[in-house]
Amino acid sequence: MVNYIILGATGSIGTQALNILRFNNYNLVAFSYGNNTDKAIDIIKEFKPKYVSTNDTLRIEELRSLFPDVVIYEGNDGNNKIASLYKGEAVVINALVGSAGLKPTEIAIKNKNKVLLANKETLVIGGEIIMNLAKENNVEIIPIDSEHSAIYQLLVGHKREEIKRIIITASGGPFKNKKKEELESVSVEDALNHPNWKMGSKITIDSATLMNKGFEVIEAHHLFNLPLDMIDTIIHPESIIHSMVEFKDYSIFAQMGSSDMHLAINYAINGPTHSKCDIIKPLDLTKVSALHFEALDLTKHKLVNLAYEVVKKGSFYPTVLNASNEVAVELFLNKKIKFTDIEKIITEEVSSYSKFDMEFTIDNILKLDKDIKEKLRKIYS
Ligand code: MG
Repeated sequence: MVNYIILGATGSIGTQALNILRFNNYNLVAFSYGNNTDKAIDIIKEFKPKYVSTNDTLRIEELRSLFPDVVIYEGNDGNNKIASLYKGEAVVINALVGSAGLKPTEIAIKNKNKVLLANKETLVIGGEIIMNLAKENNVEIIPIDSEHSAIYQLLVGHKREEIKRIIITASGGPFKNKKKEELESVSVEDALNHPNWKMGSKITIDSATLMNKGFEVIEAHHLFNLPLDMIDTIIHPESIIHSMVEFKDYSIFAQMGSSDMHLAINYAINGPTHSKCDIIKPLDLTKVSALHFEALDLTKHKLVNLAYEVVKKGSFYPTVLNASNEVAVELFLNKKIKFTDIEKIITEEVSSYSKFDMEFTIDNILKLDKDIKEKLRKIYS
């Protein structure tokens, strides 16, 4: 029996991953979570894991007395401990949000645990190092992001040499038809109202700014080891096609399904088999009246363009992009800045660097990440 570990178990992806484990009667041996201790207590009662890590330090003693047989860790260090358990015999589902996902991924790989990756920031900021480390340790990294799961599914049975390009679809988010001036006044509530997907708040804002699509380009570049000129994006407002692969004979393969992350999670867990899973919402094609496509304009969607730029520059530029985005999204969610300030803050921060005088390592990525976040929080709050 496979030992499953979930990092970020009470979040949106974590909860859906638990649904898949429950449906398959799979074994959850450990999980970490942030502050939703009530939900964590339910998970412990149901799945009976042996290890748990929490950020909710105020309730840690309560947890320990409720579950004396469960080892309880805390904080970032706890995430790292959880990722290192059952060396070589566990599958780690990384559903953490932001740069906090990087270190636990590194630790899981070094301990030869397979990684199912929903935390795209891991690859955005540390893709080169992480993919090399996975190769060295002979560890698989399977995508949970819906677009990357689609491409991963479409490539089964094909050789790399057959690929002409991959096409990542973008819904365009809730503000697709808004003019630049109108974006000045959109509220947090408007931005959290995604037309097709129900997700956590950080990724929903990233989808509204299209930063998420930029991140997904970087993620695909590392995950599939493809040059940027083989990675395209396209607006597809219905979110029925989750992404496409064009082969050298111009045949285009598309993966379709309802906007339900259970599909990508189930495939990551049970693939490369398309196994039965009744909790996935089926797609009724007769209710899909039409599929639309339009070019994603990189002069309008500057954050997608910036994502391509920072990958070309390499080293710590993606770290700057990600750290400034994390803080800008947090400031917007806390109503400290306008929606349009997100793009401004990120663009300014990225262009303020001309070189980095340090070795490109995970520890230095995380140090720079922390410094940028502290600096920006001080300036804007
Ligand atoms: Mg996605």
